[in-house]
Amino acid sequence: MPSYAFFHNEVVPISEAKIGVMTHALHYGTAAFEGIRANWNSEQQQIYIFRLREHYERLYNSCRVLKMDLPYTVDKLCQITVELVEKCDFHEDFYIRPLAYKSSESLGVRIHDLECNFLVFAFPWGPYLDIDKARCCVSSWRFPKEVPRAKLTGLYITSALAKTEAIENGFDEAIMLTSDGYVAEGSGEHLFLVKGGKLVTPVNYDSLLVGITRATAIELAKNELGIETVERHVDRVELYTADECFLTGTAANITPVAEIDGRKIGNGEIGEITKKLQKIYSEVIRGNNPKYLSWCTPVYKKSPIAEA
Ligand code: PMP
Repeated sequence: MPSYAFFHNEVVPISEAKIGVMTHALHYGTAAFEGIRANWNSEQQQIYIFRLREHYERLYNSCRVLKMDLPYTVDKLCQITVELVEKCDFHEDFYIRPLAYKSSESLGVRIHDLECNFLVFAFPWGPYLDIDKARCCVSSWRFPKEVPRAKLTGLYITSALAKTEAIENGFDEAIMLTSDGYVAEGSGEHLFLVKGGKLVTPVNYDSLLVGITRATAIELAKNELGIETVERHVDRVELYTADECFLTGTAANITPVAEIDGRKIGNGEIGEITKKLQKIYSEVIRGNNPKYLSWCTPVYKKSPIAEA
């Protein structure tokens, strides 16, 4: 199935969307990005984009950090994305990658006096952590402190180092600690523990990304399961003694964690609360739960584009 990109203000085949070797963002990580999931509902023959607006609001904030003035409003970005997805006509789960980047072909470390550009493309992408339950390790790479709390490409080098270290050591995912030794995040996910019937997740302090799946999980746990989430510092040892553990992220959805640093979490199987939340989440993102349809933007047929 051919894929397309919105690039230089028009929709083109993805193979034609190219940037020059001197592009500033390529050299200095001066770009802001998002990852958005679109989920296929086969019964309805419909694609639902999940929390589209929230992702573009976060992109807008990331752009502010980099002094980038996007030439489009959040509404316009949503519309561009819906039209792109319609053109791609995928009948499977896929991923949408918007990127706002310093596009000047000009070198020199800075963020001022540079042009910026916006592109977005979509491509089929099944499960990110392609496993039913993850084996994780605590990374030797620490989560960077006092960096902007925004989704900027340059910040991802630590995550990339941590992820590869984990994979090369035979694990599925890395869990990074802050420089103070508290649990921070996975390389591309937030982390939750189940302890005594409650959810516990690292407090959104320091530089943790404001997580859209994290917020979704907290809301669904409360509304649908009557389970509160405690946001606080989490010690490394608490990882080993938790009843259950799971990761949340747009790419990873809700992924159970079976093992951390060679210790089984609970009995090493998917925990009961994790299982329930996973099920609720997968219904919600596919547009199968009418209560949460406002989070889902339907794309195909002449469904009204959610302007909310
Ligand atoms: N942490 C990091 C470092 C990430 O890249 C992501 C993915 N955006 C997440 C957490 C999860 O955030 P979200 O649920 O908003 O996708």
